Amino acid sequence: AVEVHDVHKWYGAHRVLDGVNLTVRPGEVTVILGPSGSGKSTLLRVINHLEKPEIGHVSINGEPIGVRRHGGRLRELSERAILTQRSRIGFVFQNFNLFPHLTVLDNIAAAPVATGKLSRPAAQELARELLDRVGLADKAGAYPRQLSGGQQQRVAIARALALRPGVILFDEPTSALDPELVGEVLAVIKDLATSGTTLVIVTHEVGFAREVADRVVFIDGGRIVEQGPPAEVLDKPQHERTRDFLSKVL
Ligand code: ATP
Ligand code: MG
Repeated sequence: AVEVHDVHKWYGAHRVLDGVNLTVRPGEVTVILGPSGSGKSTLLRVINHLEKPEIGHVSINGEPIGVRRHGGRLRELSERAILTQRSRIGFVFQNFNLFPHLTVLDNIAAAPVATGKLSRPAAQELARELLDRVGLADKAGAYPRQLSGGQQQRVAIARALALRPGVILFDEPTSALDPELVGEVLAVIKDLATSGTTLVIVTHEVGFAREVADRVVFIDGGRIVEQGPPAEVLDKPQHERTRDFLSKVL
């Protein structure tokens, strides 16, 4: 499980996360909704310790991220140990962030080789399997610039899968895509969801959330306003701010 324990994050006087508690159970799909600036990206970045919270911490399968227990207190881990932890958390960005100078196959195979998890041939074999899974078996030798946005994002998802992470975080994976390319990326994410991968997805695709999410979390002003099954949060929101937000995105 991913557990976010009373996380506070601020920049100067600006409180960006204000006491967030969240549990994502293994195999669960959690969709995070909220207005621009509400802290969604920051929450994902705290989960994989790209940002360090001022108060609170995140644990994955009981192991604190970025810190270790020492006596009764939490101490910062070494950069190296943090990188090892981070390799167990997949991250898919809005803008794909593929390595432009590497082929599609090498984009996917790079991390398992660099982290010493797989030999180069084994990593390339895995990369081919993953490319097939995201429907791009014929693009192994292409470079990212030769692909559409939807294809690039599917490669980015395959790349995240290559480290066999316990959870994959998605930060608005379809919001940089032309509308006709959104469906192919959502279909790949849906395939992961139904195969039991633990997913945390920030998206404004409310229809997708209704179809795929086990839980929807609405965040505003750095706080979770409400959370629950999609049929509750999306169809019977309890809070005025949730209703107001949904009326704008639906
Ligand atoms: P969007 O939907 O636009 O992506 P978001 O919900 O992902 O928004 P965040 O990116 O988490 O929002 O940002 C939350 C707030 O924190 C914003 O007001 C933003 O300006 C501020 N913020 C984020 N990163 C930093 C930073 N490194 N330094 C200062 N302020 C920051
Ligand atoms: Mg964001």
